Amino acid sequence: MKLIVLGSGTSVPHPQRSSSGYWLETAGGSLLLDCSASAIHRMAQENLDWANLDAIWISHFHLDHCGGLAPFLFGTKHAPNTQDRTKTLRIFGAKGLKRLLKGFDTANDYGLFTQPFPLEIIEIETLEKFEILPDVEAVSISTPHTDESRAIHLRDTDGKTLVYTADTGPADAIAALARRVDLLVMECSFVKDKPVETHLELAEAMYVVRKAEPKKVILTHLYPEWDNIDFNLEVEKFSPGCEVVQAFDGLKIEV
Ligand SMILES: [Zn+2]
Ligand SMILES: [Zn+2]
Repeated sequence: MKLIVLGSGTSVPHPQRSSSGYWLETAGGSLLLDCSASAIHRMAQENLDWANLDAIWISHFHLDHCGGLAPFLFGTKHAPNTQDRTKTLRIFGAKGLKRLLKGFDTANDYGLFTQPFPLEIIEIETLEKFEILPDVEAVSISTPHTDESRAIHLRDTDGKTLVYTADTGPADAIAALARRVDLLVMECSFVKDKPVETHLELAEAMYVVRKAEPKKVILTHLYPEWDNIDFNLEVEKFSPGCEVVQAFDGLKIEV
């Protein structure tokens, strides 16, 4: 698997950090983890084959994670690149995803569900095992962020594993889900003194790392508070015991 960070930022407009989007390339196809409005153009900027994207995972319904869905489907409906596409695009997320997309669609009768290719919207229960791509098995758990927010665990047929926490407050279940994974992509919204309970600050993220013992960690969903902070210096204070990388837009990591 190969992960490409499209957006390492948040809902706050930032000159270098787009909102959430992570492209995962696997032997069985491509998967977009979250789809912010900026992520759809970032795919093109990274020369990724967005027209043949196989699946999308929506972690929750905050607009910096799903606000690109309607614009993307509006694009695929009309773009020359997708008119000859025949394979299905699958969009996965929590219960409420269909209602959300319908809401976007009927706001102006965009016809988003009429695509040149088949489109499937699939609502997944927590702890339900499902095939998100032909060679990738997934399972998601609820996180303390919104009612529908989920962290997801992915395993490919080679046994490589990845956890994407998306937005979350502190929870021991995250560390259990991420136990010894090859790559943990974890939100770390704030450095310290976080203003809300429903995100992580560095000490909490490092607590998860020490408990979960992943092989490698990417900290992402970085608010502007992170600008001008010496990331490595702050991380080393917690002796994480594995490589911890600060996400940036365009970061590419082989899993
Ligand atoms: Zn967010
Ligand atoms: Zn959120």
